[in-house]
Amino acid sequence: MSRTTIELDLNQLVETLPRVGPSVAVRLKRLGIRTIRDLLTHWPRTWRDMSVVTPIRSLKFDEFAVVRGTIHDVRLERWAGQRLVRVIARLQDDAGDELPVLWFNQGYLTRLLKEGSTYLLAGTLKWDRFRRQRYLANPTRETGLGIVPIYPETEGLTSRFFSTLINPLLPELSLPDPLKKSDQLSLTAAVRAMHRPTTLEETNQAQSRLVFDEHLMLQLQLAKDRQRRVRQTAPSIPPSVTALKQLVNSLPFQLTTGQRQAAWQLIQRLKRQHPTNQLLQGDVGTGKTVVALLVALSVLEAGYDVTWLVPTQVLARQMYARLSGLLNIANHSVVLVMQGERPPALPTQALFVGTHALLTDRPSSFPLGLVIVDEQQRFGVVQRQQAMSATNGLFPHVLTMTATPIPRSLALAILGQESLVTLTDRPIHQQPITTRLIDDRSLAVPILQGALTERQQAFVIVPRIANTTDQLFRDSIDQVAAGYRDLLPTATVAIIHGQQAAELQEATLHQFETGVIDVLVATTVVEVGVDVPNATVIVIEQPQHFGLAQLHQLRGRIGRGLKPGTCLVIQTLGDEVVDERLSVFASTTDGFVLATKDLELRGPGEVLGTLQSGLPPFKLARLDDTLLVDRAKVIVEQWLINAPGVLEAWQQFWAP
Ligand code: ADP
Ligand code: MG
Repeated sequence: MSRTTIELDLNQLVETLPRVGPSVAVRLKRLGIRTIRDLLTHWPRTWRDMSVVTPIRSLKFDEFAVVRGTIHDVRLERWAGQRLVRVIARLQDDAGDELPVLWFNQGYLTRLLKEGSTYLLAGTLKWDRFRRQRYLANPTRETGLGIVPIYPETEGLTSRFFSTLINPLLPELSLPDPLKKSDQLSLTAAVRAMHRPTTLEETNQAQSRLVFDEHLMLQLQLAKDRQRRVRQTAPSIPPSVTALKQLVNSLPFQLTTGQRQAAWQLIQRLKRQHPTNQLLQGDVGTGKTVVALLVALSVLEAGYDVTWLVPTQVLARQMYARLSGLLNIANHSVVLVMQGERPPALPTQALFVGTHALLTDRPSSFPLGLVIVDEQQRFGVVQRQQAMSATNGLFPHVLTMTATPIPRSLALAILGQESLVTLTDRPIHQQPITTRLIDDRSLAVPILQGALTERQQAFVIVPRIANTTDQLFRDSIDQVAAGYRDLLPTATVAIIHGQQAAELQEATLHQFETGVIDVLVATTVVEVGVDVPNATVIVIEQPQHFGLAQLHQLRGRIGRGLKPGTCLVIQTLGDEVVDERLSVFASTTDGFVLATKDLELRGPGEVLGTLQSGLPPFKLARLDDTLLVDRAKVIVEQWLINAPGVLEAWQQFWAP
């Protein structure tokens, strides 16, 4: 491997920089900045053009501008009963025009500002309603003109501070760059231009170069994953047409065309001798179970075990009952493995149903041919990696199912066409659901009362079990339940959550299914698998704790019967991103639209969850830019063949 030509030690800790003391280091760490590399890739959020000075007479309201002039009559004012201070001064520019300047809560400026001296002030022109005059609001004092990077300012670290840390590093920067001869900025020039551009145009060029690098990073990682997988061996499974036909004919319903095609695609790919990693996605109720069962049957017929992983013990029992019913006609055993139990070795290969504990508790008399991960969004990274690991050198195929749709662009960028199957049509129509944002629990009462009068039932979803000192969510699940008991005195209200014994959860669910319980106050344990057609209302408390995909899943609990449903979201906070998320949620029930929005708001890492771990951070690039994704793929392939050394060196900057 060629040594990197980086002169600056990118791995050097930020603490070694002159301006970084222990407390700043801690704050930087909270932003994920530990090394010089992290600092250099802490990109500005935007840039401010402060390259021109605007005369006072040309200033426009609410527009940011830089003004140059002399400062006079600096004085301090107290207001709001002495608690607040503001500094007022008069600014006069070269043309002789004057403008009041106001700084709020910066009393120390009275000592700093020198009357009669010239200042460059950058700020926004506002209107003072009480004095009926224009003023420059809270301007910063600038030292020179230019394009100023604005960093995400948190932890009390200002943009100016970031600039003073980063700028001295830039001249020493020299990054290896396989793209040197392209029409784009070099990597080094791009990094410099992000932090210290001379024109706004340069920031655009820099961004497009860095965006491309992010794409290259991802495609390089995926290419390496592919290379690794090709070296692994998995059982090659021929489609067992007869058995499949038999099972299809014995089903209590007709498969939809989508289901047939999906099953066939998934099964066909198992012929390969390398482990496949396929994703079957489809909204709640699109009928994924039977599709996966067909795939499982094919593997069983070939003489291999199959494991079917579900997130909870309660679901394991339900799924076991369902699968053994469906697989009745075929000659294969279905085995329920409860946590901590180790079932006896079986004389034939079998379908094992259980939670992730199954990965270690399955008796291994037959090699494992397929792992089905049902509801992937509820599994962790480690569990998924475990699912993909080999026994005796043989890797199982993996089929992941998710009801949390992944935007097509993202799925293709990550997984590729050859491992994605999507179910779009629904065998059973879900009833329409109206979603409303309300700002207080009491506003849910008339709707809940109406449903109860009609002998319908309701869910109330809470984010947590215990109460915390967290200002955002103080009530425990018991307190919330008590609140609903007060509001609905005639209703039977019960609680369910994942820390209760599995038996208690099952008993409660059974009582809810049979209508003994009217209102079920639940954590997200009910997010999957709970099917109570008579439930028509769902109230979501503290929705800021849930992602869009999860809200969508939760909403899928209602409208499963003959009656339309109502989803009430109690929105109490004025957080902008949360608000946007909730208004999107209220505006559509299309899972794919929501997934696309989620991608935009939270980025690919969050949306993919555990599906692809260790993704390079996408700070700038958008994965739905298919043109760039494809270009990056091609370039990575070429590099891997022609210039692997430069590639390694280049990668050092992005992924140490
Ligand atoms: P999900 O995709 O959410 O896992 P399921 O596989 O649990 O959905 O299916 C939802 C319901 O639809 C189940 O009750 C199942 O029996 C039923 N179902 C599945 N496929 C069909 C079909 N082709 N026709 C009628 N009902 C179907
Ligand atoms: Mg399912």
